Amino acid sequence: MRSYSLIAPAKINLYLEIIGDRPDGFHELAMILQSIELADQISVRSLSTDNIRVHSNHPQVPTDKSNLAYCAAELMVKEFPDTFAKYGGVEITIDKHIPVAAGLAGGSTNAAAVLVGIDLLWNLGLTQTELEELGAILGSDVPFCIAGGTAIATGRGEQLSPLPNLDNIYIVLAKYRSLEVSTAWAYKTYRQQFGNTYIQDTASLVARANAVHSGPIVKAIANKDAADIAQKLHNDLERVVLPEYPQVLQLRELFASQAGVLGTMMSGSGPTVFALVESQQQAEAVKQQIRAAILDEDLELFVTRTATHGIKIASSV
Ligand code: ATP
Repeated sequence: MRSYSLIAPAKINLYLEIIGDRPDGFHELAMILQSIELADQISVRSLSTDNIRVHSNHPQVPTDKSNLAYCAAELMVKEFPDTFAKYGGVEITIDKHIPVAAGLAGGSTNAAAVLVGIDLLWNLGLTQTELEELGAILGSDVPFCIAGGTAIATGRGEQLSPLPNLDNIYIVLAKYRSLEVSTAWAYKTYRQQFGNTYIQDTASLVARANAVHSGPIVKAIANKDAADIAQKLHNDLERVVLPEYPQVLQLRELFASQAGVLGTMMSGSGPTVFALVESQQQAEAVKQQIRAAILDEDLELFVTRTATHGIKIASSV
């Protein structure tokens, strides 16, 4: 019996632009996604029985079919029934470090790790493109989580173009443990409030999505200029989340006022707020200053940095 242990990094959005509606009901997006070193550890192991089992050390993470990692295993069983019959079921263990429902793609990266892990466990030899195609069935962020690094994501977020790696940019993350923002609510509210500004015709929609490739933040990334990247952070969803969640707005303002902070933004649909910071030392100092300014144990703070990888094997037995 073999098992694999995988590192599953979280992501932040350096850029998130909502362009318009898609015929499938999702939004047409132009995003820049960035992996970070803050990661879950996922292990996958063959079982002698034919079921899928999920264990987790985190009370907010479901262990039933509503867990995206479970869905990933179920998809592999459906796609490769003969291999499943040969190898049997799968046990998935999730060691959670990424805050849950945080806009950091926690569930998506767990699903990505399970796809990669089962591919290895069952000797399928799938290519990265094949894994990403399977990932797109599970969720828009899953393909990026497999590949990781820095990338432009268009369409629903599943069409990826890699960008030059950004390493060693330090990040402070802040999230209230008990505060959750529903991704569905954020996009629905954005449509209600700003739907009249959406680009309507398909050609203009595609042109707008393509324009991100030559946008100013992409140039800053190509130059690996952290200060310039930090000045060009953007997230359309802040327009609906910040007015509704004053705690998120407060974190955003507090980060912006700290020495050493190059720029700050909400990640995805929130509620996590991140700050790009010049050095590890400054990141630790910013974390301490925020901790001293907000005396609330519900507030979680992390110092991490940009990662240049997606799902990575930690060990195999
Ligand atoms: P995204 O950035 O992709 O929108 P997120 O970081 O906002 O994701 P998740 O951490 O994936 O959000 O959690 C969203 C919900 O999904 C949670 O309320 C949780 O109950 C459920 N969930 C399902 N599977 C997982 C998983 N493997 N890890 C964390 N949450 C999961």
